[in-house]
Amino acid sequence: MYFPEQIYAREPSMQRGRAEQGRILVIEDSRSLSSIMRHKLETDFSCQVTQCASADVFREVMQGGQTFDVAVVDLNLPGASDGEVLDAVIAEGIPAVVFTADFNRDLRERLLQKGVADYHVKNNEHAIDLVLSSVIRLLGNRDVGVLVVDDLPSARTMLADLLRVQKFQVYEASTGYQAMEILARQPHIELVITDYHMPDMDGYELTRRIRRDHSSDRLRIIGISSSADRLLSASFLKAGANDFVYRPYVIEELQCRIQHNIETLAQLQQLRVAAFSDYLTGLPNRRYFFDAGPAQVAGRLERAEPCCIAMLDIDHFKKLNDTYGHEIGDRVLQAVGAKLARRLEGSGHLLARLGGEEFSVLILGLDVEAGSALCETLRSDIESLRVALDDQDLNVTISIGLAEIAGRESFSNYLAAADQLLYLAKSYGRNRVYSESMLS
Ligand code: GH3
Ligand code: MG
Ligand code: MG
Repeated sequence: MYFPEQIYAREPSMQRGRAEQGRILVIEDSRSLSSIMRHKLETDFSCQVTQCASADVFREVMQGGQTFDVAVVDLNLPGASDGEVLDAVIAEGIPAVVFTADFNRDLRERLLQKGVADYHVKNNEHAIDLVLSSVIRLLGNRDVGVLVVDDLPSARTMLADLLRVQKFQVYEASTGYQAMEILARQPHIELVITDYHMPDMDGYELTRRIRRDHSSDRLRIIGISSSADRLLSASFLKAGANDFVYRPYVIEELQCRIQHNIETLAQLQQLRVAAFSDYLTGLPNRRYFFDAGPAQVAGRLERAEPCCIAMLDIDHFKKLNDTYGHEIGDRVLQAVGAKLARRLEGSGHLLARLGGEEFSVLILGLDVEAGSALCETLRSDIESLRVALDDQDLNVTISIGLAEIAGRESFSNYLAAADQLLYLAKSYGRNRVYSESMLS
């Protein structure tokens, strides 16, 4: 399916691929648990998994010089029954998710002291899924920027270290102004955690200022304070923060709150991408075309660069549907969309499926002459396209109307003009490009 580069370009964090292709070490002596984890990590998340069933195998693997992004570690292994392998994993700098059968408060304390990224207890059938989601979360965190704002160095460092254990890219600011500066320079910051009491600008004021330029669907803010004032949380939330925690915090609770906020951002992003994509072809849809098109045109016209807009429509498509059925019609639409996308990939022109069998290309930086030549290439690409059915190959043609954009009219008026020219292309026999310069 076509990768809608323009849609993704507006979603910085989506270009990262998040969790894909991590190298995972599974240190677990139960063959069945280990194999289930391996299977899920490989098939569902395209990870590379190395299994170790004992301390000896672990040592061999490490001597092999491989590097790993995350390790799942059982505490009780043949040859190392008291968490020795966990210490070795942490010493290697590999983020560790502990998977243990025995659990108590003392052990929890020790695990957090050691700096494990997460832990889960083998006490129910969902435990494996929890371990896997911790692994995937850690892989995703590698590309997420988090900014910690606190004037007190010890408190700031403690929180920053906690976030580094979670594999976030951590930035630190000791004042509100410094925080604003870092935020302006680092667009991949998705979360700000800010203290309340700070000398130059308090946490509310910082939150309010951040919210002038950064909406809650792209940047989350969590307030934090050791104050005993119970109204603080309400005031932070009213100023635009998404969450609040009182110090001293429970590490796991803070981690969960952070993670929920990061996940919410990812879900909102998926919704935005879905809302702007055409389901059948994967191309940008009409909504995206009208959302992004006018601004692109305005930018070009400001720089005195030419633009034009093309309407493309498949010829006699209704007949194709009637003859071969809607399903084959859909396949043809997908093939036509993919062919157009391949030709236009990286060109900067904006291709969209407007609906039905109609596509449009916003041609940026080319005048009608050059635009016509491009449309002619698209027309000929589709004429030579073959869609393979079981017993025969199908081919279709397209007609194109091309209008110049001079800037006096609205975007939709130019599209309507291109549609009028498309109508002429159809009436002169189809499978042709008809542009404004051909009007006599
Ligand atoms: P012309 O050459 O004048 O463009 O004729 P045409 O038959 O292509 O144009 P018309 O607008 O009469 O028919 C378009 C057809 O496209 C009608 C509709 O059933 C079909 N269509 C619209 N959307 C889809 C779709 O998503 N899938 C399929 N398979 N068909 C669709
Ligand atoms: Mg048609
Ligand atoms: Mg039509």
